Amino acid sequence: MIYLDHAATTPVRREVLEAMWPYLTGDFGNPSSHHGLGESAAAAVRNARQQLAEWLGCRESEIIFTSGGTEADNLAIMGIALASPRGKHIVTTAIEHPAVLESCAFLERHHGFEVTVVGVDESGLVAATDIAGAIRPDTTLVSVMLANNEVGTVQPVREIAALARAASVPVHTDAVQAAGWLDLGVNELGVDALSISGHKLGAPKGIGLLYLRGGMPLEPVLHGGGQERGRRSGTENVAGIVALAVAARLAEADRLERVALTSLARDAFIDEVLATVPDARLTGARTSRLAASASFCFPGTSGESVLLRLEERGITCSSGSACAAGSDDPSPVLLAMGIDPGVAQTAVRFTLGSDTTAEQLIGVAAEVRAAVAAVRSIGGTRQSPS
Ligand code: PLP
Repeated sequence: MIYLDHAATTPVRREVLEAMWPYLTGDFGNPSSHHGLGESAAAAVRNARQQLAEWLGCRESEIIFTSGGTEADNLAIMGIALASPRGKHIVTTAIEHPAVLESCAFLERHHGFEVTVVGVDESGLVAATDIAGAIRPDTTLVSVMLANNEVGTVQPVREIAALARAASVPVHTDAVQAAGWLDLGVNELGVDALSISGHKLGAPKGIGLLYLRGGMPLEPVLHGGGQERGRRSGTENVAGIVALAVAARLAEADRLERVALTSLARDAFIDEVLATVPDARLTGARTSRLAASASFCFPGTSGESVLLRLEERGITCSSGSACAAGSDDPSPVLLAMGIDPGVAQTAVRFTLGSDTTAEQLIGVAAEVRAAVAAVRSIGGTRQSPS
Protein backbone atom coordinates (compact mmCIF):
# COMPACT_ATOMS: atom_id res chain seq x y z
CA MET A 1 0.00 0.00 0.00
CA ILE A 2 1.15 3.53 -0.72
CA TYR A 3 -0.27 5.68 2.09
CA LEU A 4 -0.91 9.27 1.00
CA ASP A 5 -3.31 10.39 3.72
CA HIS A 6 -0.89 11.74 6.33
CA ALA A 7 -3.07 14.80 6.92
CA ALA A 8 -5.71 12.41 8.30
CA THR A 9 -3.28 10.61 10.57
CA THR A 10 0.24 9.19 10.70
CA PRO A 11 1.63 5.89 11.99
CA VAL A 12 3.25 5.97 15.43
CA ARG A 13 7.02 6.00 15.04
CA ARG A 14 8.94 3.09 16.56
CA GLU A 15 11.08 5.36 18.78
CA VAL A 16 7.89 7.00 20.03
CA LEU A 17 6.28 3.68 20.89
CA GLU A 18 9.43 2.54 22.67
CA ALA A 19 9.51 5.74 24.74
CA MET A 20 5.85 5.26 25.72
CA TRP A 21 6.11 1.63 26.71
CA PRO A 22 7.50 2.05 30.27
CA TYR A 23 4.70 4.47 31.17
CA LEU A 24 2.06 1.98 30.06
CA THR A 25 3.60 -0.93 31.95
CA GLY A 26 5.99 -0.83 34.94
CA ASP A 27 6.05 2.95 35.40
CA PHE A 28 2.30 3.37 35.18
CA GLY A 29 1.84 5.85 38.04
CA ASN A 30 -0.53 8.78 38.27
CA PRO A 31 1.53 12.02 38.28
CA SER A 32 -0.61 13.34 41.15
CA SER A 33 0.25 10.41 43.44
CA HIS A 34 2.71 11.02 46.29
CA HIS A 35 4.77 7.88 45.96
CA GLY A 36 7.62 6.65 43.82
CA LEU A 37 5.51 5.55 40.87
CA GLY A 38 3.62 8.83 40.85
CA GLU A 39 6.81 10.87 41.10
CA SER A 40 8.34 8.95 38.22
CA ALA A 41 5.29 9.72 36.06
CA ALA A 42 5.37 13.37 37.12
CA ALA A 43 9.06 13.54 36.18
CA ALA A 44 8.28 12.12 32.72
CA VAL A 45 5.60 14.77 32.21
CA ARG A 46 7.98 17.52 33.39
CA ASN A 47 10.71 16.33 31.07
CA ALA A 48 8.32 16.14 28.09
CA ARG A 49 6.94 19.58 28.87
CA GLN A 50 10.47 20.99 28.92
CA GLN A 51 11.29 19.47 25.50
CA LEU A 52 8.04 20.72 23.99
CA ALA A 53 8.59 24.20 25.41
CA GLU A 54 12.00 24.25 23.74
CA TRP A 55 10.40 23.20 20.45
CA LEU A 56 7.86 26.03 20.59
CA GLY A 57 10.23 28.56 22.12
CA CYS A 58 7.97 29.13 25.11
CA ARG A 59 7.94 28.62 28.88
CA GLU A 60 6.96 25.24 30.32
CA SER A 61 4.09 26.85 32.20
CA GLU A 62 2.64 27.99 28.86
CA ILE A 63 1.91 24.42 27.72
CA ILE A 64 -1.44 22.79 28.49
CA PHE A 65 -1.73 19.12 27.53
CA THR A 66 -5.04 18.14 25.91
CA SER A 67 -6.58 15.08 24.31
CA GLY A 68 -5.71 16.35 20.82
CA GLY A 69 -6.24 19.12 18.31
CA THR A 70 -10.00 19.34 18.72
CA GLU A 71 -9.75 19.88 22.46
CA ALA A 72 -6.90 22.36 22.08
CA ASP A 73 -8.98 24.38 19.59
CA ASN A 74 -12.09 24.24 21.81
CA LEU A 75 -10.08 25.32 24.84
CA ALA A 76 -8.44 28.19 22.96
CA ILE A 77 -11.65 29.56 21.45
CA MET A 78 -14.00 29.08 24.37
CA GLY A 79 -11.42 29.52 27.10
CA ILE A 80 -9.99 32.81 25.82
CA ALA A 81 -13.29 34.27 24.58
CA LEU A 82 -15.20 33.52 27.77
CA ALA A 83 -12.44 34.92 29.97
CA SER A 84 -12.11 38.19 28.07
CA PRO A 85 -13.77 41.32 29.43
CA ARG A 86 -13.32 43.08 26.06
CA GLY A 87 -16.56 41.94 24.44
CA LYS A 88 -18.24 39.15 22.55
CA HIS A 89 -16.83 39.21 19.03
CA ILE A 90 -14.52 36.70 17.34
CA VAL A 91 -12.79 36.90 13.95
CA THR A 92 -11.97 33.69 12.11
CA THR A 93 -11.82 32.39 8.53
CA ALA A 94 -14.03 30.31 6.27
CA ILE A 95 -11.43 27.56 5.91
CA GLU A 96 -10.89 26.68 9.57
CA HIS A 97 -11.28 23.15 10.87
CA PRO A 98 -14.72 22.38 12.37
CA ALA A 99 -13.05 22.26 15.81
CA VAL A 100 -12.63 26.04 15.49
CA LEU A 101 -15.78 26.90 13.54
CA GLU A 102 -18.06 24.79 15.74
CA SER A 103 -16.55 26.23 18.91
CA CYS A 104 -17.32 29.71 17.55
CA ALA A 105 -20.85 28.59 16.62
CA PHE A 106 -21.33 27.28 20.17
CA LEU A 107 -20.38 30.67 21.58
CA GLU A 108 -22.85 32.32 19.19
CA ARG A 109 -25.66 29.94 20.17
CA HIS A 110 -25.16 29.87 23.91
CA HIS A 111 -23.18 32.94 24.94
CA GLY A 112 -24.39 35.72 22.65
CA PHE A 113 -21.14 36.07 20.70
CA GLU A 114 -20.92 37.43 17.16
CA VAL A 115 -18.50 35.74 14.79
CA THR A 116 -17.07 37.38 11.66
CA VAL A 117 -15.96 34.72 9.19
CA VAL A 118 -13.43 36.21 6.79
CA GLY A 119 -13.27 34.70 3.29
CA VAL A 120 -10.27 33.52 1.28
CA ASP A 121 -9.20 34.11 -2.30
CA GLU A 122 -9.42 31.51 -5.06
CA SER A 123 -6.06 30.06 -4.02
CA GLY A 124 -7.24 29.43 -0.46
CA LEU A 125 -5.32 32.28 1.17
CA VAL A 126 -6.69 34.79 3.63
CA ALA A 127 -5.51 38.41 3.41
CA ALA A 128 -4.04 39.74 6.66
CA THR A 129 -5.61 43.12 5.92
CA ASP A 130 -9.08 41.50 5.71
CA ILE A 131 -8.58 40.06 9.19
CA ALA A 132 -7.38 43.43 10.51
CA GLY A 133 -10.37 45.10 8.87
CA ALA A 134 -12.77 42.75 10.68
CA ILE A 135 -11.38 43.59 14.15
CA ARG A 136 -13.71 45.73 16.28
CA PRO A 137 -13.34 47.34 19.70
CA ASP A 138 -15.23 44.37 21.21
CA THR A 139 -13.17 41.66 19.45
CA THR A 140 -11.89 39.16 21.99
CA LEU A 141 -10.00 36.77 19.72
CA VAL A 142 -8.70 36.21 16.20
CA SER A 143 -8.31 32.56 15.17
CA VAL A 144 -6.57 31.75 11.86
CA MET A 145 -5.06 28.37 11.05
CA LEU A 146 -1.39 28.13 10.14
CA ALA A 147 -1.92 25.53 7.41
CA ASN A 148 -5.15 24.23 5.95
CA ASN A 149 -5.98 20.55 6.24
CA GLU A 150 -7.68 20.20 2.84
CA VAL A 151 -5.61 22.21 0.40
CA GLY A 152 -2.46 22.70 2.49
CA THR A 153 -2.29 26.49 2.07
CA VAL A 154 -0.08 28.28 4.59
CA GLN A 155 -1.72 31.40 5.96
CA PRO A 156 0.09 34.69 6.74
CA VAL A 157 -0.26 34.19 10.50
CA ARG A 158 2.81 36.23 11.43
CA GLU A 159 1.44 39.25 9.55
CA ILE A 160 -2.04 38.72 11.02
CA ALA A 161 -0.62 38.48 14.54
CA ALA A 162 1.31 41.72 14.10
CA LEU A 163 -1.84 43.56 12.97
CA ALA A 164 -3.97 42.04 15.74
CA ARG A 165 -1.35 42.83 18.34
CA ALA A 166 -1.45 46.49 17.27
CA ALA A 167 -5.17 46.37 18.11
CA SER A 168 -4.47 44.50 21.40
CA VAL A 169 -6.43 41.44 20.25
CA PRO A 170 -5.03 37.97 21.04
CA VAL A 171 -4.42 35.53 18.18
CA HIS A 172 -4.90 31.77 18.20
CA THR A 173 -3.56 29.59 15.43
CA ASP A 174 -4.44 25.97 14.71
CA ALA A 175 -1.03 24.50 13.87
CA VAL A 176 -2.25 20.89 13.74
CA GLN A 177 -1.32 20.40 10.06
CA ALA A 178 1.74 22.62 10.17
CA ALA A 179 3.47 20.66 12.95
CA GLY A 180 6.50 18.83 11.64
CA TRP A 181 6.59 20.92 8.46
CA LEU A 182 6.81 24.57 9.53
CA ASP A 183 8.73 26.44 12.22
CA LEU A 184 6.39 26.74 15.18
CA GLY A 185 8.35 29.26 17.25
CA VAL A 186 5.50 31.07 18.97
CA ASN A 187 7.43 34.31 19.43
CA GLU A 188 8.44 34.49 15.77
CA LEU A 189 4.82 33.81 14.82
CA GLY A 190 3.67 36.36 17.40
CA VAL A 191 0.67 34.27 18.45
CA ASP A 192 -0.89 34.01 21.91
CA ALA A 193 -2.26 30.49 21.54
CA LEU A 194 -1.40 27.56 19.27
CA SER A 195 -2.92 24.08 18.92
CA ILE A 196 -1.02 20.85 18.20
CA SER A 197 -2.20 17.27 17.72
CA GLY A 198 0.11 14.29 18.28
CA HIS A 199 -1.32 11.90 15.73
CA LYS A 200 -0.41 14.12 12.76
CA LEU A 201 3.19 13.95 13.87
CA GLY A 202 4.04 10.30 14.58
CA ALA A 203 2.56 10.16 18.10
CA PRO A 204 -0.68 8.31 18.88
CA LYS A 205 -4.21 9.64 18.70
CA GLY A 206 -5.55 11.21 21.89
CA ILE A 207 -2.75 13.60 22.79
CA GLY A 208 -2.21 17.24 21.90
CA LEU A 209 -1.40 20.54 23.48
CA LEU A 210 -2.41 24.13 23.62
CA TYR A 211 0.31 26.74 23.94
CA LEU A 212 -1.13 29.71 25.85
CA ARG A 213 0.94 32.85 26.35
CA GLY A 214 1.68 33.51 30.04
CA GLY A 215 -0.76 35.85 31.70
CA MET A 216 -3.54 35.26 29.17
CA PRO A 217 -6.79 34.72 31.12
CA LEU A 218 -8.46 31.37 30.35
CA GLU A 219 -11.81 29.95 31.39
CA PRO A 220 -11.33 26.17 31.71
CA VAL A 221 -13.56 23.91 29.65
CA LEU A 222 -12.94 20.75 31.67
CA HIS A 223 -13.50 21.05 35.40
CA GLY A 224 -12.25 18.63 38.00
CA GLY A 225 -9.06 17.88 39.88
CA GLY A 226 -7.21 21.01 38.76
CA GLN A 227 -4.40 19.42 36.72
CA GLU A 228 -2.46 21.59 34.28
CA ARG A 229 -2.56 24.50 36.77
CA GLY A 230 -6.32 24.35 36.87
CA ARG A 231 -6.58 25.02 33.14
CA ARG A 232 -7.40 21.45 32.06
CA SER A 233 -8.53 18.95 34.65
CA GLY A 234 -8.13 15.23 34.10
CA THR A 235 -5.39 12.71 34.87
CA GLU A 236 -2.53 13.32 32.48
CA ASN A 237 -2.04 10.95 29.54
CA VAL A 238 1.54 10.30 30.63
CA ALA A 239 2.53 7.90 27.84
CA GLY A 240 0.87 10.18 25.26
CA ILE A 241 2.68 13.23 26.62
CA VAL A 242 6.02 11.40 26.45
CA ALA A 243 5.13 10.30 22.92
CA LEU A 244 4.32 13.84 21.81
CA ALA A 245 7.66 15.13 23.04
CA VAL A 246 9.63 12.38 21.30
CA ALA A 247 7.63 12.75 18.06
CA ALA A 248 8.19 16.52 18.05
CA ARG A 249 11.92 16.11 18.69
CA LEU A 250 12.27 13.60 15.85
CA ALA A 251 10.20 15.71 13.47
CA GLU A 252 12.19 18.84 14.24
CA ALA A 253 15.57 17.09 13.92
CA ASP A 254 15.31 16.56 10.15
CA ARG A 255 12.57 19.06 9.34
CA LEU A 256 14.40 21.34 6.91
CA GLU A 257 15.91 18.50 4.92
CA ARG A 258 12.58 16.62 4.87
CA VAL A 259 10.68 19.72 3.74
CA ALA A 260 13.14 20.27 0.89
CA LEU A 261 12.98 16.66 -0.33
CA THR A 262 9.23 16.31 0.08
CA SER A 263 8.56 19.60 -1.74
CA LEU A 264 10.60 18.41 -4.71
CA ALA A 265 8.72 15.10 -4.85
CA ARG A 266 5.36 16.87 -4.45
CA ASP A 267 6.16 19.40 -7.18
CA ALA A 268 7.12 16.63 -9.60
CA PHE A 269 3.87 14.83 -8.71
CA ILE A 270 1.73 17.95 -9.24
CA ASP A 271 3.43 18.63 -12.59
CA GLU A 272 2.90 15.04 -13.70
CA VAL A 273 -0.78 14.96 -12.72
CA LEU A 274 -1.47 18.32 -14.36
CA ALA A 275 0.37 17.25 -17.52
CA THR A 276 -1.16 13.80 -17.88
CA VAL A 277 -4.69 13.90 -16.42
CA PRO A 278 -6.96 15.86 -18.76
CA ASP A 279 -8.66 18.85 -17.08
CA ALA A 280 -7.04 18.16 -13.69
CA ARG A 281 -7.08 21.25 -11.53
CA LEU A 282 -4.77 21.90 -8.58
CA THR A 283 -6.60 23.35 -5.59
CA GLY A 284 -4.83 25.87 -3.36
CA ALA A 285 -1.89 28.16 -3.96
CA ARG A 286 0.99 26.59 -5.84
CA THR A 287 3.68 28.08 -3.62
CA SER A 288 2.31 28.98 -0.20
CA ARG A 289 1.48 25.37 0.71
CA LEU A 290 2.75 22.62 2.95
CA ALA A 291 5.51 20.47 1.47
CA ALA A 292 3.40 17.36 1.91
CA SER A 293 0.19 18.54 0.33
CA ALA A 294 -1.24 18.13 -3.19
CA SER A 295 -4.96 18.25 -3.85
CA PHE A 296 -6.86 18.33 -7.09
CA CYS A 297 -10.28 18.44 -8.64
CA PHE A 298 -10.99 16.11 -11.53
CA PRO A 299 -14.13 17.52 -13.21
CA GLY A 300 -16.45 14.86 -14.62
CA THR A 301 -15.73 12.37 -11.80
CA SER A 302 -16.62 12.13 -8.15
CA GLY A 303 -13.81 12.31 -5.63
CA GLU A 304 -15.18 9.27 -3.79
CA SER A 305 -15.16 7.16 -6.99
CA VAL A 306 -11.59 8.12 -7.86
CA LEU A 307 -10.59 7.37 -4.28
CA LEU A 308 -12.13 3.88 -4.46
CA ARG A 309 -10.42 3.14 -7.77
CA LEU A 310 -7.09 4.23 -6.32
CA GLU A 311 -7.63 2.11 -3.23
CA GLU A 312 -8.21 -0.92 -5.49
CA ARG A 313 -4.80 -0.12 -6.96
CA GLY A 314 -3.13 0.01 -3.54
CA ILE A 315 -3.09 3.79 -3.09
CA THR A 316 -4.71 5.30 0.00
CA CYS A 317 -5.65 8.96 -0.21
CA SER A 318 -8.65 11.07 0.70
CA SER A 319 -11.53 12.74 -1.05
CA GLY A 320 -11.31 15.70 1.35
CA SER A 321 -10.64 16.05 5.03
CA ALA A 322 -11.02 12.91 7.16
CA CYS A 323 -13.85 14.43 9.15
CA ALA A 324 -15.81 15.22 5.99
CA ALA A 325 -15.05 11.88 4.34
CA GLY A 326 -18.18 9.92 3.61
CA SER A 327 -20.23 13.09 3.52
CA ASP A 328 -21.81 13.89 0.18
CA ASP A 329 -21.66 17.64 0.71
CA PRO A 330 -19.01 19.56 -1.19
CA SER A 331 -16.19 20.81 1.02
CA PRO A 332 -16.90 24.22 2.59
CA VAL A 333 -13.21 25.01 2.14
CA LEU A 334 -13.39 24.53 -1.64
CA LEU A 335 -16.68 26.42 -1.82
CA ALA A 336 -15.05 29.29 0.11
CA MET A 337 -12.38 29.34 -2.60
CA GLY A 338 -15.11 29.95 -5.17
CA ILE A 339 -15.01 26.46 -6.66
CA ASP A 340 -18.29 25.37 -8.19
CA PRO A 341 -20.09 22.80 -5.94
CA GLY A 342 -20.16 20.20 -8.74
CA VAL A 343 -16.41 20.54 -9.23
CA ALA A 344 -15.74 20.62 -5.47
CA GLN A 345 -17.29 17.14 -5.24
CA THR A 346 -14.54 15.82 -7.50
CA ALA A 347 -11.74 16.69 -5.03
CA VAL A 348 -9.00 14.23 -4.14
CA ARG A 349 -6.30 15.01 -1.57
CA PHE A 350 -2.84 13.43 -1.46
CA THR A 351 -0.75 14.11 1.65
CA LEU A 352 2.77 12.76 1.67
CA GLY A 353 4.84 11.33 4.48
CA SER A 354 8.56 11.48 5.15
CA ASP A 355 8.99 8.08 3.49
CA THR A 356 7.09 8.94 0.29
CA THR A 357 9.50 8.89 -2.66
CA ALA A 358 9.43 10.79 -5.95
CA GLU A 359 9.53 7.46 -7.84
CA GLN A 360 6.46 6.22 -5.96
CA LEU A 361 4.64 9.41 -6.82
CA ILE A 362 5.32 9.14 -10.55
CA GLY A 363 3.71 5.69 -10.37
CA VAL A 364 0.81 7.16 -8.40
CA ALA A 365 0.30 9.85 -11.06
CA ALA A 366 -0.12 7.13 -13.70
CA GLU A 367 -2.69 5.38 -11.49
CA VAL A 368 -4.51 8.66 -10.96
CA ARG A 369 -4.75 9.14 -14.72
CA ALA A 370 -6.12 5.59 -15.12
CA ALA A 371 -8.58 5.98 -12.22
CA VAL A 372 -9.91 9.30 -13.50
CA ALA A 373 -10.29 7.91 -17.03
CA ALA A 374 -12.11 4.83 -15.69
CA VAL A 375 -14.55 6.89 -13.62
CA ARG A 376 -15.21 9.25 -16.50
CA SER A 377 -15.81 6.35 -18.89
CA ILE A 378 -18.56 4.86 -16.72
CA GLY A 379 -20.60 7.99 -16.65
CA GLY A 380 -18.81 10.69 -14.79
CA THR A 381 -19.83 12.63 -11.81
CA ARG A 382 -20.83 10.91 -8.59
CA GLN A 383 -20.86 7.39 -10.01
CA SER A 384 -19.14 4.73 -7.93
CA PRO A 385 -17.09 1.97 -9.55
CA SER A 386 -18.69 -1.46 -9.54
N1 PLP B 1 -7.31 21.10 13.26
C1 PLP B 1 -6.92 20.67 12.05
C2 PLP B 1 -6.41 21.66 11.05
C3 PLP B 1 -6.98 19.31 11.72
O1 PLP B 1 -6.60 18.91 10.51
C4 PLP B 1 -7.47 18.41 12.69
C5 PLP B 1 -7.61 16.97 12.37
O2 PLP B 1 -7.73 16.57 11.25
C6 PLP B 1 -7.86 18.90 13.94
C7 PLP B 1 -7.76 20.26 14.19
C8 PLP B 1 -8.37 17.99 15.02
O3 PLP B 1 -7.31 17.30 15.63
P1 PLP B 1 -7.60 15.93 16.43
O4 PLP B 1 -7.84 14.87 15.39
O5 PLP B 1 -6.34 15.70 17.20
O6 PLP B 1 -8.76 16.16 17.31
